[in-house]
This record gives sequence, structure tokens and C-alpha cells, in this order.
Amino acid sequence: MNTDSTDPTHFAQRALSHAQNLAKDGRGSATASERQAAEYTQAQLMLLGIEDVRMQPFQGLRSIWLFFALTFGLALVGHAAFWLLRRPMGDLPALLVSLAAFSLSGYLLWRKFTFRDFPLRTTLPHASSQNVIAVIPPVGEVKRRLVLVAHLDSHRAVFWFATNFLVMLFAISGIVCIYGVFLAIPVYVLAVLTHWQVFAWLGLALAFFHFLGWFTGITADLGRYSPGANDNASAVGSVLALAERLKAQPLQNTEIWLAFTGCEESGCDGMLALLKEHGGTLKDALFVDFELVGIGDSLSYIQEEGNLHRQTILPAVEALVKEVGEPYGLHPVRTPPVGAFTEGGTLWEYGYKAVCFSAHYQGSPILPEWHRLTDTPDRLQVTTLERVQALTWDLLQRFDQ
Ligand SMILES: [Zn+2]
Repeated sequence: MNTDSTDPTHFAQRALSHAQNLAKDGRGSATASERQAAEYTQAQLMLLGIEDVRMQPFQGLRSIWLFFALTFGLALVGHAAFWLLRRPMGDLPALLVSLAAFSLSGYLLWRKFTFRDFPLRTTLPHASSQNVIAVIPPVGEVKRRLVLVAHLDSHRAVFWFATNFLVMLFAISGIVCIYGVFLAIPVYVLAVLTHWQVFAWLGLALAFFHFLGWFTGITADLGRYSPGANDNASAVGSVLALAERLKAQPLQNTEIWLAFTGCEESGCDGMLALLKEHGGTLKDALFVDFELVGIGDSLSYIQEEGNLHRQTILPAVEALVKEVGEPYGLHPVRTPPVGAFTEGGTLWEYGYKAVCFSAHYQGSPILPEWHRLTDTPDRLQVTTLERVQALTWDLLQRFDQ
């Protein structure tokens, strides 16, 4: 093996070996195995001789699926009120109950998808989670800061993610479920006002999707966690390998922060905890988030994302990544509003500068092994990890100028 400290292949191998150690089993949000992954990461950083390594504890949501069970359960209450209460109570009172349930459901979705506190949050199970945060100082004085972000936890391997066909069905159903909460309001109002049956049936069709969402929500946590090799041990390994290279070849004037976060999969509680404590220091920093960077022949950055509230990358950040990414064929993607999110999106919501990189196969909109039981380390590709190392290293050099 080539151990040249400027060779991306060497660091890609290092990233792979970390990912292999981390992805032996699932690392559910706010679980003991997530904590073990944090401890492994912390130990590796200390082995590198990085002085400033901290563990930041916080209380995180254990499952995004229970949140969906709550919101789509409320939507089902809305449907039930329209269909079951009109006869005993009359049209208007039934409609009011129905609209109240949909409004609360919609408000919860809006707050969650904009990464804000939401009503009834404390009714959902939370547990101890943690971020691992490290700081690598530059050779000279600190003129700017850059944060490398990788989440530690892995997702439940819910059946919706098992095949590409199911992922496409999930995407369509996800959009109908989320936007259907808001659509149900005018649909049932029109049903009552016009007495046209077509609106009532349209509402019933939405109820079918909300049942699907609720049922998935209450049953999702019965299954196993994905080993999460690509999502997101590939990223944790990549950032650890970058840390190793930075320790050997520090930047001139850029202070590098490493943020290994917990509870990303359940709604980015780790990133929110990080911003709460260090948001002031990192107000002008550039955050570089890595998501599924271990499989595929193509690299992309997220140009637009968000459920209910769409956000786009800052033009100055996009210009920088376009310039640096050109030799790597880096291209923009827009994530569909299916209920998925990244910590890059969380950062945009709070007005921070951020970019999120991921890898995939050319021409395919599906993220390889996303939330699957087959997301195991043997599927990771050194060539992809190598491209990520090289791209990020170039970005760091360019940013440091
Ligand atoms: Zn992820």
C-alpha cells in the first residue's frame, strides 16, 4: 500500500478501513451502538494527536417514524371526523374538527421540516445521544473556519427502501402524504360547500395514503437498523481520513472543525445541538456535509432541498464548489420533497453557509444502498472514496487561500 501522505488512494484506504470498523452493525439514533460509534471516532481523533476533541451530549429523538405516526395519525383523525361525525354532529361541526386535526398535523410537519421545536415533541421517545467535535488549528492565525460534517447514526431498514422500485413508490407516496395533509383542507371544505361527491372521494384517496404513512410509522421500528456503511460510515471514515491528512499537512489560516453528529436520521438533532452551543463561533464558517460518499461513479452537490420549505445553496458557495469540482465532474442535484433531509438543509434553514456532497451512479436518481440491510462495507468502492478525498482536499486548499 502506498503510504505517501499526499496520495488520495492512501487516505481512501484509511476511510474504507474506518467505515469497515463502524458499519459492522446498525447504529440507530440515540442508541448504545451510536454511542459506540462516537467513542470509536473520538478515540481515532485522539490517536491522531488532535488536542481539542470533545463529546457533546444531548437528548435526541429516537425515531423519525414515530413522528410520522403522530402527524399522519392526526391526519387520519381529520379524515375520520369528516366521514364519521357529519351524521351525528352536522356538516359544519364535523368539518371544524376535521380542519383542526389537519391544521395541527400540518403545523407539526412544517415545524419539523424547518428543524424547529414542535408541539407534542415530548410525547415522542427521546434518549441520550452525542456529537463528537474536534478542532484542528491552522499553522498561522485563524482567518476563517470550515466544518467537515458526517453523521454517526444509521436508519431503520424500513421495507420501503429495500428495492429501487419500492424507493420510487416511497418517493411518490411520501410527497402525497406530506402535501396531502394541506390539500385535504380545501378538498373537504369544497366537499361540504358544494356537496360534490368527487371532493369527498378525493379526500378518501388521501386518507389511503395517510393510512399508509401512519402504518409505516408505527411498524417501522420493529425492524432492524441498516448497517449504514454507505449511509453514513463512508462519510465518517472520509472525514477521519481528512483529519489524518490535515494533521500531517495543516492549512495556513483555516481552522478546521470536525463534526461527527448523532440523531441525523431522526431529524438532525445533533446538528441543532451543535449550532446551539457553537453557532456563534461558526456563524461565518463554511460547512461541508458528506452523505453516502462511498459508492458510485459520479459526485454531486445538493443545489436545492427541503420538504414544504425549499432552500437553495448560496451563490458564493456554489461558485466555489463548481470551480473546485469541475475536474471531478461534480454536478448539482435537487432532492425531491419526499420527507428526506440533510444537515446541509438544516444549516441553510438557520442561515449558515453549507454544501452537501454525495456519490451515486451516473443517470440514477437513487442513492446507492440508502437505508438498506445490504448497506454493508463490502459494497463500498475505494475509487469513489478516493475521488471524495481528492475533491475535498482541493476544496480545502482553495478555501485556505
Ligand atoms: Zn445519511
